[in-house]
Amino acid sequence: MKDLLLRGLVRGSALRVIQVEATDLCRMARMLHGLAPTSAAVFSEALAAGLLLGALQKDRSRVNLSLEVDGPLSGLLVDADTEGNIRGRVRRPDIHFPGDPSIGPRAALGGSGTLSVLRDLGRGEFYRGSVEFVPGTLTENLRRYFAASEQVATALDVRVHPTDREPLGAVAGIVVQKMPEGSPEALEDVRERIAAGAFRDALARGAAGEELARSVVGEGLEVLGRHPLSYLCNCNRERAVNAVSALGPDGIRAVLAEERQVVIDCEFCKKRYVVDEPELAEIARRLEGGVPGGAKA
Ligand SMILES: [Zn+2]
Repeated sequence: MKDLLLRGLVRGSALRVIQVEATDLCRMARMLHGLAPTSAAVFSEALAAGLLLGALQKDRSRVNLSLEVDGPLSGLLVDADTEGNIRGRVRRPDIHFPGDPSIGPRAALGGSGTLSVLRDLGRGEFYRGSVEFVPGTLTENLRRYFAASEQVATALDVRVHPTDREPLGAVAGIVVQKMPEGSPEALEDVRERIAAGAFRDALARGAAGEELARSVVGEGLEVLGRHPLSYLCNCNRERAVNAVSALGPDGIRAVLAEERQVVIDCEFCKKRYVVDEPELAEIARRLEGGVPGGAKA
């Protein structure tokens, strides 16, 4: 199964459909972050949900989905754009509840906390919406977020289907929204199919693409587009140097006296940036001389 974002429409009942199949991307993210099975399952659910939120955004912008919870997982954040790229981090990579894989993620999240969605509306404007996290899955809580914070009637499902040997056997999500002229009954039918386990069961039997989407929207699905998905981090060396500059000349001299270098590990992609002694000295000189940052480049 190849990772895919599918955009579609059920014209008859005016429902908008977005589906993501993100198995490969989630397995890659699991390796990158070294995640134990339960941490991997929750993080994958968040990645698929984040990709759906990103695809719902207008124009070129970003959206963050974050969880702060009292369970052992503690928290996570995913950061998606509108083009099918996502990155994320999870606070506790080592959570594993052996046994029934449908129980582990709930236990890892705990019973209280906050689910937040931060939308970048462009031109420096942001919108933050949040709901109280209650016992359940990330997806169950995200449905409550949509009901409380978004103007559009929405049905949602995200599933991580484990197999015997692979906690991330298949990862997919779907969001169905009623357009202004859409049929409330048709959306209710979609919700009922999701509640009856239609999306979960279709994923488990290996359905993909249109067939997977039809498991919840029924016949009449018109595919408008297919796009690739990827785990992509936009960190770079310049940002790492900027982070060092934020220490100020005195802070940098203190580092020079002790460590002789600054090592910055990106928490999203694990890329390592090392700023060595000569460069640190130069940054300190530049800061003291009042030369604006970036003059070196
Ligand atoms: Zn990175």
